[in-house]
Amino acid sequence: MAVSAEVKEYQMLIDGKLVPSSSGETFEICNPATNEVIGRVAKATREDVDRAVRAARRAFDEGPWGRMTPNERAKRLRRVAEIIRERQEELSRIETINSGKIIVESRADVANSANCFEYYANLTGQIWGETIPMNGPLFDYTVREPYGVCGQIVPWNFPILMAAWKIAPALAAGNTVVLKPASYTPITALLLGRICLEAGIPEGVVNIITGPGNEIGAALCEHPLVDKIAFTGETETGREILRLSAGTIKKVSLELGGKSPNIVFPDADLEEAVNGSLFAIFSNAGQRCTARTRLFLHRSIHDRFLADFVDKAGRIRLGDPLDDQTQMGPLVSPRQCQRVLHYVERAKSEGAVLRLGGKKPEAPALQRGNFVEPTVFDQVTQQMTIAREEVFGPVLSVIPFESEDEVVQLANDTIYGLGATIWTKDIKRAHRLASRIRAGNISINYPVINPPEAPFGGYKQSGIGRELSRHVLDLYTQVKNVVVGLSEEPFDWYGRWPAGR
Ligand code: NAD
Repeated sequence: MAVSAEVKEYQMLIDGKLVPSSSGETFEICNPATNEVIGRVAKATREDVDRAVRAARRAFDEGPWGRMTPNERAKRLRRVAEIIRERQEELSRIETINSGKIIVESRADVANSANCFEYYANLTGQIWGETIPMNGPLFDYTVREPYGVCGQIVPWNFPILMAAWKIAPALAAGNTVVLKPASYTPITALLLGRICLEAGIPEGVVNIITGPGNEIGAALCEHPLVDKIAFTGETETGREILRLSAGTIKKVSLELGGKSPNIVFPDADLEEAVNGSLFAIFSNAGQRCTARTRLFLHRSIHDRFLADFVDKAGRIRLGDPLDDQTQMGPLVSPRQCQRVLHYVERAKSEGAVLRLGGKKPEAPALQRGNFVEPTVFDQVTQQMTIAREEVFGPVLSVIPFESEDEVVQLANDTIYGLGATIWTKDIKRAHRLASRIRAGNISINYPVINPPEAPFGGYKQSGIGRELSRHVLDLYTQVKNVVVGLSEEPFDWYGRWPAGR
């Protein structure tokens, strides 16, 4: 597989400078398609976190960023989008080499990252407050102000896109940021930091630090000069983030895991539903929080739907993720690969019926990478581990159902509530289910999508807060109320009492 790249050193971005770790230590990053080392990245210390946070603090408290007009901020965010587009191919290749994502998906992620910066550039001038009618001679208004320094921690499954989702709205609202990418996939976030600088965003406004989550991610959550934490990752890590942030009462927003249902009724366009369901589980090799991992098939169509689905899933082309023809790449790491195969064994031992995959592919060219075949389990029940826990790989659980009430109950029987898809031509049923399913993102006759215009986030243990759209600006601003006395009578509370008593 011709994917080896020269081993490069990547430094962090702190206060507008590219810097090594204060300890001089680095860690290796690999290509998931071959497990070859492709780079060395600075391994930050707590001291580096402190340096980055203080730089962001200074940039917020004293720097030009907060004093810029919305138009001036917008111009710079738009420039970020332009530079990303100019470097689309280079960034996409790096994303693929570092994450294993197929090149077609990397190109989409890079394009969507540019769109995200452009979208929030257009909103800098629309972060406004309210005037509030008062019961008295008072004038009352609110303003939305940035929190200040935002600590942002992102996962490895959409490296540049998650960084863009975090940085763009935070900056649009006038905050400064310290972002920590996942240790497997830090390169494109580091490059995005440099692009921000090149686009004229002042030094110290965007800082990117790299290193182990349980050390430097934790240090970021505990730092007293950080005002807000925005985290995307596993639900278990989210719990830890909440604990770590409690000491300083940080504002915390969380985008966490999912176990999203995908429900097919007999009256759906079944061919479209098969094709959409394939995308909903196997895109990004199943490593998406919104993956529709539980396929609920009405019993009357179960056999023929599944036969078609398994046939098509079995023809998904695994291969070199840099090849335009490849349809599924490797998982991010050997560890993730083992985790997924462990879930496969568990499912078998708990009685699920394996219909496809369940192992690493046999092709000699794929042996060095973290590939797992598209995997389909049938006759899964709610009690099985595979129906309850997030696998985060190309593994689908198929669960038959009989009635609408039953499928609603099954779909909601999870600690998660991120997404759900409903395939039916019955418009009343579609909207009934959209209302009854407890999840933040419902798609009807469409697999799964998260454009910047639409809010995104989870019910239940899938998160706190909504990213994207205008809603995310609520996570990056706080409301200040201002009241003005209008009465011609001077205010004199103690003068109400007669003198001398
Ligand atoms: P993870 O929770 O292991 O790591 C996420 C980030 O947190 C990484 O940068 C990691 O270094 C850091 N981290 C780990 N421990 C930490 C700690 N104790 N304190 C502070 N930071 C810490 O998740 P992952 O394996 O990188 O990503 C996969 C998970 O992300 C899945 O559960 C997936 O569902 C979730 N995800 C959710 C969304 C969403 O928007 N809801 C989007 C993408 C991924």
